[in-house]
Amino acid sequence: MTDHFDVVVAGAGPAGAQCARDLAQRGYDVVVLEAESEDEFPRQSNKSTAGTFPSMMGSFGIPDDVVMQYTDSVVLESPNEHYRQSQPGAVLEFADFKRYLVRDGREKGAEYWFDARVANPVMEDGEVVGVQYAGDQEVYADIVVDATGPSAPLAKKLGVSDLKRDKQAIGVEYELEGIDMAHEDFADLRDAMMLRLDHDIAPGGYSWIFHTGEDTAKVGVCYIKNQTHKDKARDGMGIDDYLKHWLDTDPRFADAERIEGEHHRGSAHIQMPDGLSTDNFMAVGDTVPTVDPLWGEGIHKGMQSGRAAAITADRCFTPEEPDTSAESMAIYDDLWHDRVAPQMRTRLLMTQLLYLASNERYDTLMRDLDRMNMETLSDANAGNLLSIAKLLHVGDAPLLARFLRERLSE
Ligand SMILES: Cc1cc2nc3c(=O)[nH]c(=O)nc-3n(C[C@H](O)[C@H](O)[C@H](O)COP(=O)(O)OP(=O)(O)OC[C@H]3O[C@@H](n4cnc5c(N)ncnc54)[C@H](O)[C@@H]3O)c2cc1C
Repeated sequence: MTDHFDVVVAGAGPAGAQCARDLAQRGYDVVVLEAESEDEFPRQSNKSTAGTFPSMMGSFGIPDDVVMQYTDSVVLESPNEHYRQSQPGAVLEFADFKRYLVRDGREKGAEYWFDARVANPVMEDGEVVGVQYAGDQEVYADIVVDATGPSAPLAKKLGVSDLKRDKQAIGVEYELEGIDMAHEDFADLRDAMMLRLDHDIAPGGYSWIFHTGEDTAKVGVCYIKNQTHKDKARDGMGIDDYLKHWLDTDPRFADAERIEGEHHRGSAHIQMPDGLSTDNFMAVGDTVPTVDPLWGEGIHKGMQSGRAAAITADRCFTPEEPDTSAESMAIYDDLWHDRVAPQMRTRLLMTQLLYLASNERYDTLMRDLDRMNMETLSDANAGNLLSIAKLLHVGDAPLLARFLRERLSE
């Protein structure tokens, strides 16, 4: 076991594992340190609904055998309306997917060390040169990557990441069987991923039903713990209470039962990153954070950021005199802003505006989406301001005024 690598990656989530796959494929010595034990992996980190799209599966060569269910549409639901868009997708078995990334990374030459919780950067002359893990063990590298998700121990200590409490989104989900996936009072959810905007169920957030075959689905709730949530929340209710309330009151779940052991929870921060890299160091995935703020798509984004970090490392190692100074590592920042999350700022604003709207306004939004053409919709989703403006109404003036007040107070 060597104690010096080209790259040490902390965290075997989609972002870190993808970074390691790409680096190993290019022949670099890379080790991934994962806090959990290999026997149980992933346990606490088995947190994701893992709905994704062919663009991710194709770009990163993900095999069919980690897919629970292929879907053919995305449904948006409000309290009284819904909108359906044809769009092929896949709901992954997240644990199988994570184990696949480890297996494939190893086949490409990456090392994986489990039971290796990373605690601190090892510093020399003010620069990170390795990490301390599993208590007092140390391993050294030319480049260190923090891919530990929202815990971000290295990025925080190096002053790269400042994840803010009031920007934290939390989510919880169960897998259920016995769901009426085609209830007459609601949209047909067979072969669909459904997201529901309804403050009675998820104040300041959304809930979801992702079909996983026959009468089973992943069912969950998430929200950002900010002022909007506080304004719309009911006293004393936590996120588990909201999910329970939905399961108790929605007729689709009347005969549904939880599938034992299938319970996922986690968090991510919905904010602009402060920084992304420094000397010999990059932060990827939810450590930064990279998750798309509007609909929580974090797997594809995280893997793209892992790939951008691998490209940067390759670029820094290629010259005869390798250069991993902050200036060189900033290539990663450029790739992140240009390719990984080019519309992050606009999408953060769209998210803030969306969750300020009322349940009645959500019903109107669904009707508007139904009558708009696909091009305008996809432009609006991509952050095009003119297309977003087409979704606004004269009656939205108070909503926009509140949005502006909140923006100014930040
Ligand atoms: C309830 C929920 C539902 C979601 N649904 C979707 C969805 O449908 N589609 C989608 O695209 N995204 C979804 N996401 C988001 C997505 O799961 C995340 O954005 C994605 O997993 C982030 O990947 P990551 O590699 O950055 O971090 P993580 O997945 O958090 O992985 C971090 C890894 O680091 C390990 N680790 C943590 N601390 C340490 C340490 N100190 N030392 C070593 N290892 C450590 C963890 O055990 C874990 O293996 C969901 C998230 C949640 C919480």
